[in-house]
Amino acid sequence: MLIAPLSSGSAGNAYWFESDGTAILVDAGLGPRETKKRLEIVGRGIENLTAIVVTHEHYDHIRGAEKIARKYEIPIYLTRGTLENSTIDRAETKTVVFENDSSFTIGELQVHARKTIHDAADPACFVVEARDGTRVGIASDLGYVNREVLTHLTGCDGLFFESNHDLDMLRLGTYPWSLKRRIMSRYGHLSNDDSLNAVQRLLGAELKTLCMIHLSQKNNHESIVRDMCTRLLNRTGASIEFAIAKQFEPTGLFDVARRRERTPMPGQMALF
Ligand SMILES: [Zn+2]
Ligand SMILES: [Zn+2]
Repeated sequence: MLIAPLSSGSAGNAYWFESDGTAILVDAGLGPRETKKRLEIVGRGIENLTAIVVTHEHYDHIRGAEKIARKYEIPIYLTRGTLENSTIDRAETKTVVFENDSSFTIGELQVHARKTIHDAADPACFVVEARDGTRVGIASDLGYVNREVLTHLTGCDGLFFESNHDLDMLRLGTYPWSLKRRIMSRYGHLSNDDSLNAVQRLLGAELKTLCMIHLSQKNNHESIVRDMCTRLLNRTGASIEFAIAKQFEPTGLFDVARRRERTPMPGQMALF
C-alpha cells in the first residue's frame, strides 16, 4: 500500500492511501488545487482518487472535501454526526454515511472505522486494509487513547499517529487558558507523552512504518518528538521506518507491505 501524508496539523490534514488501483484521501483539509499540486510532488494523480473519507467535521480535516468531491465526481464517506455538523451541501455532493465501529469497502480497500474521543460530533480513526492483508492505521485528534482504539490499531503494518503537543510548551505558551484547557482535556489532543505511551503498546512484530502526525506548530517541535521516538525505538529494539509528517509540504511516499504472515487466531486451523 502506498501512503502519502500531503499535509498534517491544524492548518490542514490530508493523507493519500493507494492499493490495487484504488486511492482514497483520509481527510481533505486542502483545496483541490493544493491537493493536486502536492500529489504531483509525490508522483500521484488526483484524477485517480476514488473517494474521500473524513475523520470529523473540524475545518482542518474537511475544508477541501466538498470542492474536491464535486470537481472529481467522487463520494465523501463520513459518519452521520460529521455530515450533520458540516456545511456540505448534500443535494450537490455525493455522500456516503458509515457507522462508527464498522467496516466498509471502497474499491479494493477495506476501511475499518473506530470511534475516537474528541470534541466533535462522531469522530473516527481508521485502519485501511489492502487486498493482500496489509493494514495501515491512522489516528489523530484524540483526547485520549481508550482501550477500544488501542485494540483497533493493534497489529498494523504501518501507523500514522498523533503526537500533538509538548505539555510544558503548551502550559508555558501564549495560547489563552481556555484553549490550553481544551487541548489538554480528554476531548482535545494527545500530548507527546500520551502518544508515546500508546505507540509503545502498539509496537508489534508487524509494524514496519511509524509516522507521527498532527504536530502543533506552536506547542511542539519536531526534534522533541524525534528524540522521544528514537529513545523508545532504541529501547525496544524495534527496527522500523520512522518519520514525522510535515504541515506545508508532502512528507513523501511510504510503501508499506505486510511484513510477515499473521499468526493464526486461537482455534484457527493452520493451513499447509
Ligand atoms: Zn485537527
Ligand atoms: Zn479536531
